[in-house]
Amino acid sequence: MRFGLGYDSHVFEDGRKLVLGGVAFPGETGLKAHSDGDVLIHAIIDALFGAAALGDIGSHFPDTDEKWRDADSSDLLAEAVRIVAAAGYSIGNIDATVICERPRLSSRILEIRTRLAQIMSLDVSQVSVKGKTNEKMDDVGAGRGIVVHAIAALHH
Ligand code: MG
Repeated sequence: MRFGLGYDSHVFEDGRKLVLGGVAFPGETGLKAHSDGDVLIHAIIDALFGAAALGDIGSHFPDTDEKWRDADSSDLLAEAVRIVAAAGYSIGNIDATVICERPRLSSRILEIRTRLAQIMSLDVSQVSVKGKTNEKMDDVGAGRGIVVHAIAALHH
């Protein structure tokens, strides 16, 4: 069993669409990014590459590459799973914590877990996502952006 840690953060930017874990949040402010800004998927990708010691999201999908401009992060996650599987690993489970003041995630958690499981060809029981606020502390607590921590367990 191997474990990998993932982290990502993005600031809100007016005029962008918010997507978290491949799920759209209509009416919410989106995140500034080269890709679609799916901060949850980005953290999970880094957890997967970290567990396999295969680098990170930037080394596989560089944001200097026009190929990834406005990329659908769901496609990047599916590709990351293929890369990890090609190295001989299967995913045991994923756990992630999304930290933001908005949006409130509780009513959308099962939808996000289901979508992430679908992208990674996992059972929903293998994918956990929790939402927290930062109790109004610091920039995240002031509502400037979203932070995600994720961990992945891989079997060889
Ligand atoms: Mg990112």
